Amino acid sequence: MHYGIDIGGTKTEIAVYDQNWQVQSRWREPTPAADGDALLGLLQTLVQEADRRAGVRGTLGIGVPGVLDRRGCLIAANLPGLRDLPLGAALTTRLERQPVLENDSRCFIVSEVGPGGAAAAASHAFGAILGTGAGGGAVIEGQLLRGAGGLAGEWGHLPLPALARERHDLPRVACGCGLPDCLESYIAGPGLVRLHHHFGGESESTLAWQQALQAGEDAARRAHDCHLELLGGALANVVKLLAPEVIVVGGGVSLVPGLVEALPAALAEHLFAGVPTPAIVRSRFGDASGVRGAAMLGARARMLT
Ligand SMILES: [Zn+2]
Repeated sequence: MHYGIDIGGTKTEIAVYDQNWQVQSRWREPTPAADGDALLGLLQTLVQEADRRAGVRGTLGIGVPGVLDRRGCLIAANLPGLRDLPLGAALTTRLERQPVLENDSRCFIVSEVGPGGAAAAASHAFGAILGTGAGGGAVIEGQLLRGAGGLAGEWGHLPLPALARERHDLPRVACGCGLPDCLESYIAGPGLVRLHHHFGGESESTLAWQQALQAGEDAARRAHDCHLELLGGALANVVKLLAPEVIVVGGGVSLVPGLVEALPAALAEHLFAGVPTPAIVRSRFGDASGVRGAAMLGARARMLT
């Protein structure tokens, strides 16, 4: 059996998979985000319960919403309780097995290139997650890309192109990462709402923006066109750098009707003539890709040892 855990800022989920990657069991608990010791206790309880249900001691992979520093401590704004806590070492002792820890965006693409995924068996794939932020992960030459310090894949924090700012007279936005005008602030869910406001709309959510778009509102249409242009340009940069054969789009924004279908043409405008546009597909496993990819990494680590 293979267990995957996805630690989120509000919920922590565990899923138990069999050898064929069928879900045997899956449940979630509130995350005690501010209390590191309580969070370690929760992980221990989840794994013990999974062992009890499975009747064996399964392999374990854990997806985390941030970057692990050299000490093995997690840098994640929404999990302050884990700051300065070497997570891997603490868990190995408590869980009596060595878990694999990985950034949740990388777990996403591992799941989608895995069996049954939207990019199953692809050797070169990029996962773009557009939810409250814009995360990413890449598998290139069949290998998960991590880079020095685990930074690889942070495409959401590339800057907004000056040309696009001028053309649309876009507002400046300070990103949570400390840099100004990151693409994430314009292309993720809150970014879409921000664009809608910029063009004169009043929605407070992407759903409200969608409703305005369907009702034919001019501001919603302009936000849509601007968003598509920015997203196409951002993904074209990823293509120039990594040359994936397929891009898997996940997160709430990927569910906007027609968005994924419109992306190949939007992306091609920012590529050189003759460069093939990669296939662009919606994620197959959606929100479950985090736990599934984490479980796959845990299983793979067991095979390698
Ligand atoms: Zn940023």
